[in-house]
Amino acid sequence: MAYTHDSPSIEGAMVAERLLSHGYRVYLIDKEPKARISEEEMSQLRTSIGYILGHKNLKVLSETTIDKLIGHEGDFVLTVDKNGQTEQLPVGAVVITAGDDSAYINDLRSVFYLDVDENGSLRPINRDTMVTTTLRLGIFMVPVTGELRFKAAYADSAALNVISILDSEEVIFEVPVSQVDERLCGGCGTCIKTCMFKASNIDESKRLASVDVMRCRGCGNCVTSCPTGARDLLTYPTKYLHSAIEILAEYPSKGDPKLLFLLCESCGYPSLDHAGTSGMEYPASILPLGVKCGARVDTQLILEAFAKGFDGVIIGKCKEDRCQNLVGSVDLDRRANLFREILRSRGINSERLRIVGLDGCEGGKAAEEAGAFFKDLKVMEVVV
Ligand code: SF4
Ligand code: SF4
Repeated sequence: MAYTHDSPSIEGAMVAERLLSHGYRVYLIDKEPKARISEEEMSQLRTSIGYILGHKNLKVLSETTIDKLIGHEGDFVLTVDKNGQTEQLPVGAVVITAGDDSAYINDLRSVFYLDVDENGSLRPINRDTMVTTTLRLGIFMVPVTGELRFKAAYADSAALNVISILDSEEVIFEVPVSQVDERLCGGCGTCIKTCMFKASNIDESKRLASVDVMRCRGCGNCVTSCPTGARDLLTYPTKYLHSAIEILAEYPSKGDPKLLFLLCESCGYPSLDHAGTSGMEYPASILPLGVKCGARVDTQLILEAFAKGFDGVIIGKCKEDRCQNLVGSVDLDRRANLFREILRSRGINSERLRIVGLDGCEGGKAAEEAGAFFKDLKVMEVVV
């Protein structure tokens, strides 16, 4: 288990104590040289701190930066740098207590691809029920709090999450990877240029694309950009998306506009889910369909929706600087003009396509935007 902080903190000490006492090896990684634990905290937790600092299974790496993390829950490799020397640490899980240091959180975000809130603090998957769980499997966080009892509770929660992974005999997870259909690949290399995660390569012996499954995040950018249709995702494959559109299009809307709400699974879908679980109302003929990322939305999906009878398509994506796949949201925006041009070329009013940026918990905004689009469609000219 690796644990990171901008400087060693009481929360980190608490998480480390719980994991060490459970028999695990803990790397305590700090960018600063010295601990910042208040005297009051030290006096209350002197025994715990004494226990961890002398423990044979604790390795402290101070003045160390984190370069990259590859792998999956239960089987990560964390690369760190200390004074120009790199070291690779095999870790099963990571706990982050970055406090409210937004600059440091920003650095960590580019390594761990985590979500942040409007204040620049790390954002858990759910602020009410899963406060130490992030969107990325195997990466946990301790939220900022002033009270020692809450710090202890959050440390317990983060440590228990880690223990539940490391105590499992096997960790089963869905690998969200892209695949290459070698019959269709022409070796053009477009997928290499569009992959932010350096997961697409050309296998020189075959002159065909290949995928590094340890790096691939399954964002779908390569699927959207491959000129021959040689790429697809193992999760949310193209065939599934088209079938889902066909099935949703059969919904009897009783004269109301029928909207397809394409939602990225990082921000869009959790937002609409939040709207539903919070009892917010929106018209029943707004039909949601999850996609891996905004980057996966292509012309075919949009044209398919209109061809099957939808009156409008709304895409709920991450806000530009919050995209879990870093550029998926921006790439979607870049494609937006093309989408609209293609709709116009087919005599479809391009206003029938709308794109909204959402944070994961913006249920109110998701319901409001979809409802407003629904009303606009009622008075909109269908043809250009
Ligand atoms: S973009 Fe498509 S055709 Fe080109 S190398 Fe990649 S998989 Fe092959
Ligand atoms: S799905 Fe995304 S991360 Fe994976 S190879 Fe394609 S572009 Fe790269």
